[in-house]
Amino acid sequence: MSKETEPEYQLSDIFSCTRCGFCCQGETTVSLDAKDQERMVRVLGLSREETAQQYWRITGTEVQMQVRDGHCIFYDPTQGCTVHEGRPWRCRQWPLHPSILSDESNFHTIAASCPGIKKTLSYKEFSHIFQALRQHERADEQNG
Ligand code: SF4
Ligand code: SF4
Repeated sequence: MSKETEPEYQLSDIFSCTRCGFCCQGETTVSLDAKDQERMVRVLGLSREETAQQYWRITGTEVQMQVRDGHCIFYDPTQGCTVHEGRPWRCRQWPLHPSILSDESNFHTIAASCPGIKKTLSYKEFSHIFQALRQHERADEQNG
């Protein structure tokens, strides 16, 4: 019997952001690493000092975004993320966190807070597609 060819999956097979804004709420935000900081400064077109003063909360070596009215300073209820191109990698990655693949409870926790996760899929189906997408992404990176 011949081996079936793996279908080409799309991100939309497992996730499609509804722009509900839930992941931008809370009294803390994700941390920005050095590359995140550089990207944000560039996208905002401000100096690092201006960006830090207007948008960041710096605690020791930890840089986060400031919070306004219980959400990230860049979140606008009508427009969503207003720094989309300059958002940190953790915001880009969410909600497809690799920990989903190692622990089903992480999948259920994330799926419960993110309406963009396709709820019609079982954990096994979701993980299979997510894994295939990650492998595809890694292959693309290696191929330049
Ligand atoms: S919680 Fe999910 S659906 Fe809502 S904005 Fe965040 S990623 Fe999109
Ligand atoms: S940077 Fe954008 S995506 Fe990330 S928490 Fe702030 S508003 Fe949300």
